[in-house]
Amino acid sequence: MTTETNPLLDFSGLPRFDQIRPEHVTPAVDALLADARRAIETIATNPATPTWNTVVEPLAESLDRLDRAWGAVRHLNAVVNTPELRDAHNANLPKVVAFHTDLGQDLRVYDKYRALRAQPAFATLDAARKRLVDNELRDFKLSGAELDDAGKARFKAVQEALADLSTQFEEHLLDATNAWAHYVDDAAALAGVPDDVLAEARAAAQADGRAGYKLTLRMPSFLPVIQYAHDRDLRRLVHEAYSTRASDLSAHPEWDNAPLVGQILELRREAAQLLGYGNYAQVSLVPKMAQNPDEVIAFLRDLARRAKPFAERDFAGLADFARDELGLAELMPWDVAYVAEQLKAKRYAYNEQDVRQYFPEDQVLAGLFRVVETIYGVRIREGRAAVWHPSVRFFRIHDRNDALVGEFYFDLYAREGKQGGAWMDDAINRRSVRGGIQHPVAYLTCNLSAPVGGKPATFTHDEVITIFHEFGHGLHQLLTRVDVAGVSGIQGVEWDAVELPSQFMENFCWEWDVLRHMTRHVDTGAPLPRELFDKMLAAKNFLSGMGTVRQLEMGLFDMLLHDQFDPAGTAPWPTPGALLAAVREEVAVVPRAPYDRFMESFAHVFAGGYAAGYYSYKWAEVLSADAFSLFEEEGVLSPAAGARFRDEVLARGGSRPALESFVAFRGRPPQLDALLRHNGMVATE
Ligand SMILES: [Zn+2]
Repeated sequence: MTTETNPLLDFSGLPRFDQIRPEHVTPAVDALLADARRAIETIATNPATPTWNTVVEPLAESLDRLDRAWGAVRHLNAVVNTPELRDAHNANLPKVVAFHTDLGQDLRVYDKYRALRAQPAFATLDAARKRLVDNELRDFKLSGAELDDAGKARFKAVQEALADLSTQFEEHLLDATNAWAHYVDDAAALAGVPDDVLAEARAAAQADGRAGYKLTLRMPSFLPVIQYAHDRDLRRLVHEAYSTRASDLSAHPEWDNAPLVGQILELRREAAQLLGYGNYAQVSLVPKMAQNPDEVIAFLRDLARRAKPFAERDFAGLADFARDELGLAELMPWDVAYVAEQLKAKRYAYNEQDVRQYFPEDQVLAGLFRVVETIYGVRIREGRAAVWHPSVRFFRIHDRNDALVGEFYFDLYAREGKQGGAWMDDAINRRSVRGGIQHPVAYLTCNLSAPVGGKPATFTHDEVITIFHEFGHGLHQLLTRVDVAGVSGIQGVEWDAVELPSQFMENFCWEWDVLRHMTRHVDTGAPLPRELFDKMLAAKNFLSGMGTVRQLEMGLFDMLLHDQFDPAGTAPWPTPGALLAAVREEVAVVPRAPYDRFMESFAHVFAGGYAAGYYSYKWAEVLSADAFSLFEEEGVLSPAAGARFRDEVLARGGSRPALESFVAFRGRPPQLDALLRHNGMVATE
């Protein structure tokens, strides 16, 4: 197949999403893998002295094409999943993984990089190119390049098995989420649930040819029910269904993820030991900002020690309120979100659904773009491009002189066949190409409520924060000025620093001068009243202690699981579940439901890239809060501070260590103070 007949092989511009079909995947992947293997052969067998132009450049060129085509397939599989596409994706995934494993272990290419590094000419390369070569050498070692043949073969088999297990984990979770539905005939049974949610539930039932209301486990249905439904039995029903997804307790035990967790942990440990490390956590931290597992564990425990008293106070307040005002003698896990909303409404006299009426989609996006345009000196305009679903929007970012900087897709709404959550992914990475610059392109994906009944989509404040968060990742990818593939945009950025630009953006959602411009009541057109904002601000740190220890619980579980848990032994914990219970004993304040199967849906760690890396959210929050404190000092929309953040952090991408970028921007190393202050956790002892 050629470019003419296979749109996945067309690299002349943006992906041709209107034409890509599942039957294009295999021929495209096969052709690109063959091309890439040929390029590697040419590089590996070239007798001339290795140079940047004979080794790095041609390899980057063929990997870029493979990444772009496979990236489009991966993206479609995540956002418009169909059985045919899933089959095509799964049939090709092992080949792509095997290719990367082979390349990572190709001693001939490794030797070319080592020779390149050893030459006097290496000293003349710019910092970004030097960094890329050093990263490549590190990654070759971590890919098993220094193993003997038997070790290499085993290492490769382990990587392939892990990729397969991760895919299964994700599929089980997606299938279990989609398989569950609960139909309610009578609106009275849904008392408390907001009208918009009821309208959507009614439309969903109608789509199934039924009367009444359809509840699902997808976020826009599950969350409002668990937060607002007065019916305690209904809350327990959806809580149990949600908490037991992909577990032995679900209606489909064939999708139980627990056995996969055991296999994943054993294989990760084996891979680490093949590379000469004690465990997977040590390997995971080699390319990260944190130095070793002990540093991370100490960091998490230090924060937990400071946060737990605030969390205990939060929980006691909830339990008192539930008992005194709601007649709930014992606060159960399925009550916590509901009681929290009730107490919040009483204490701060507003709820998220009221606030939501002030955040119609267009106003929010215009407000977001205004922030970005003001502080970074860019222009964002909607454009046209082929998309994978009619609700997807496309935008271009231009510099002051109107030069194109980058492009992005916004896919905002939840729908069937779309993986849950919110994320940014790179579609095209910035790099220099013959005749100029290849501009970066990003996918920004959320699972927000779609417009219903002819009204524009409206977002809760939390959802607005999610959009800002993902957009921060997008800016990291799009505002880069690095021209070297592999260290431009988010490529090559240490995992535990990746959340710096995204969490940084969230801060703007708490600034009145920013927020008021993105509000317009969907019915009356009125802007958000200042007094409502003041209540939101007062409520901001409501239960922040509980929220913090929940994150620390997940981070500590993840790190201990990959550092100290022995998948082959029984001590100090016989099972991952026993470790989770021990971590909860140490850190958590909310009792767990007897049926809780959180681990089986912890996709970040078992299906995503966050294994021995979940701590990075909190780690980066320290960085982001401290970075934002400069804007607090100089003015929140300060173009001068913005220019510095763009120049020293966003534009640099992975071309230098994150700590160096941070210090260049802030003028000193990161400090904890701003995070604790932003979370209202300033000790008064
Ligand atoms: Zn993020």
